[in-house]
Amino acid sequence: MRCYISFLLLFVGVIVGTAQVSLIHCGKLIDVEAGKVLEKMTIVVNANIIEKVVSGYQTPTAGEQVIDLKTMTVMPGWMDMHVHIEHESGPRRYEETFRENESYVALKATQYCRRTLNAGFTTVRDLGGSGVNVSLREAIKNGFIDGPRIYTCEKSIATTGGHGDPTNGVRDNLKGDPGPKEGVINSPEEAAKAVRQRYKNGADCIKITSTGGVLSVASDGSGPQFTTDEVAAVVKAANDYGFVTAAHAHGAEGMKRAVLGGIHSIEHGTFMDEEIMNLMKEKGTYYVPTIAAGKFVAEKAKIPGFYPAIIVPKALKVGPQIQKTFEAAYKAGVKIAFGTDSGVSIHGENAKEFIFMTEAGMPAMEAIRAATKNAASLLRIYDKVGSLTAGKWADIIATREDPTQNIQTVLEVPFVMKDGKVFKQ
Ligand SMILES: [Zn+2]
Repeated sequence: MRCYISFLLLFVGVIVGTAQVSLIHCGKLIDVEAGKVLEKMTIVVNANIIEKVVSGYQTPTAGEQVIDLKTMTVMPGWMDMHVHIEHESGPRRYEETFRENESYVALKATQYCRRTLNAGFTTVRDLGGSGVNVSLREAIKNGFIDGPRIYTCEKSIATTGGHGDPTNGVRDNLKGDPGPKEGVINSPEEAAKAVRQRYKNGADCIKITSTGGVLSVASDGSGPQFTTDEVAAVVKAANDYGFVTAAHAHGAEGMKRAVLGGIHSIEHGTFMDEEIMNLMKEKGTYYVPTIAAGKFVAEKAKIPGFYPAIIVPKALKVGPQIQKTFEAAYKAGVKIAFGTDSGVSIHGENAKEFIFMTEAGMPAMEAIRAATKNAASLLRIYDKVGSLTAGKWADIIATREDPTQNIQTVLEVPFVMKDGKVFKQ
């Protein structure tokens, strides 16, 4: 009996011990819902949930710990809606496909995950890899490695020879004929099979490549590669699983078909015209600009040998255009969610996108909202995350200065909490 009671007490002690309450004293706090910067606030975090947000610096009671961020500006953890967490660009990227086993890819990617989280990004949407991304999501969720919360499309869906056909640029006897299982489709029927296969493989969302792309070993970087019917079939099947859909798109025709097919977000959107902007506003389609990737590929294309020769003219044409398109789309009132295409650019430098967005005329507060409120809304998890609101997951970061006063401060994030756990202080 005594043994039983002491075991029970130990058990209760463990429970109480894990339900740690933290009072975060915030010099400034960004209220993304109201679009305001508040001063001298306290966030009460209980385990992994924000219990309440109160004004003034609340005094701790017994058992409560204080996290002193009185000199900093605190805001919700940032969310990047377009990364490729498995890889990173480099002059050897193309041969890596043939040399690196999945286990090596996974181990290497752990550093990309850590860098991303340390940069203040507590959630990312991974828009395409080999399937290792699903394992990374699980390893992070289960606490084996540090990284952002991942929502992944697993493998993106392409058409034969299109951007994302895994055998582009490969010698003939290695090409084979990839199909829906591998994420390559050529009809609405195959679209459904490809989506269901992604569900089976553990995806959280769906990505299609509705036009040519810069970094595929193919000549066309912007022409349409899906029919409207194929897009609509992808979206219809994805809706059955509650999957949000994204379309990589550079050229106007493929972009228009994606929007008409009901896609939820347009990625890159390079040659978006006024007609498409109006269509996106009408349908509520999000735009995820990835200015950072455009700038990165345009810069690296000037270095001889960084990319295969077939890629260089595409990178030089597409790269510099994205920031201009972003400016026009923002002015036109298209809904914008933050996304960088990190993996094309460097993991951990995601926050550069904030600077590129403000350069193009978006106020810093709006850019931060794009990476919190809007991103969470796109992922349909704004009831759980994306603002510092009672009841939401405790994803909280801080910068040294107020980014609405000095946007450069986003490049260094000294404090990162994800799901109530402090990863950087
Ligand atoms: Zn991408």
